[in-house]
Amino acid sequence: MTAPFPTAPGGTGPTAVERITARAAELGEGLVIHRALPTRQRRMVGAWCFLDHIGPVTFAAGQGMHVGAHPHTCLQTFTWMIEGEILHRDSLGSEQIIRPGQVNLMTAGHGIVHTEDSLPGASRLHAAQLWIALPSRFADCAPAFEHYPSLPVWTEQGCTLTLLAGRHAGYAAPTRLYSPLIGLDITSPQANTLALPLNPAFEYGILPLEGSVGMHSECYGPDEFAYLGAHHNGIALDLSPGSRILLLGGEPFNEGIVMWWNFVDFSRQAIARSQQAWESLAPRFGPVAGAEGRRIAPPPLPWTDG
Ligand code: MN
Repeated sequence: MTAPFPTAPGGTGPTAVERITARAAELGEGLVIHRALPTRQRRMVGAWCFLDHIGPVTFAAGQGMHVGAHPHTCLQTFTWMIEGEILHRDSLGSEQIIRPGQVNLMTAGHGIVHTEDSLPGASRLHAAQLWIALPSRFADCAPAFEHYPSLPVWTEQGCTLTLLAGRHAGYAAPTRLYSPLIGLDITSPQANTLALPLNPAFEYGILPLEGSVGMHSECYGPDEFAYLGAHHNGIALDLSPGSRILLLGGEPFNEGIVMWWNFVDFSRQAIARSQQAWESLAPRFGPVAGAEGRRIAPPPLPWTDG
């Protein structure tokens, strides 16, 4: 089909979509998930720096997602729940169940610790867990936790759109951001072509979670992340029946970050200090109620030059 949006002069053109196949990784006690970012070829899309797709999975009786106490710095963890229920607890004393259609947003800043557990009897789980890097001027901010029980949802062109972060089509998501970003969940019960306007100042990626999406004559299936780049005014998406995709974008993040284990920071030295603080039970990473005996140890630092 003909794309309804011309590519802006200086744009990367319609054939420059980069296909990144998410790799399997393990979360907590043996739960296999798919991780689309970071990869060697691409680290970030805007400030989105970590994209985990959890499930969809049906647990055997007594099984579930159980992630013991672990620390974070200089990032926000962004959990978008599609199916199932997870209990979040953190070192600020937050205790919050997240249910389908809701977002949990934890701002680590200077340092926070949390646990995540399936509720007993919750046999299904489907979620996206994303990280957002904080710009350096906010990296040391006080930690915070916010639960968003409802987000802007609307129907257009036969699809249901939920705005998870940022602004789109006159809607504004309530989620607290520290850099210009967008997160948009799109479901299509039938085969549909959805014409979406894009901000040419943002770079974008599309992560299919279920079904498939066609764009620029290429088809992307579940966990095949399509990095679109910047300078696009819009895109036409051919959505398969029953599909669900995430559109993620933002202003290109112009600061170099270091990611190691559950830490984001701006130098290896800062990461090493955080790891040392976690290992030595420093007050910066306080206890989480209910996490007794479930404290995750990091692997040794992978570098020796500081
Ligand atoms: Mn975490």
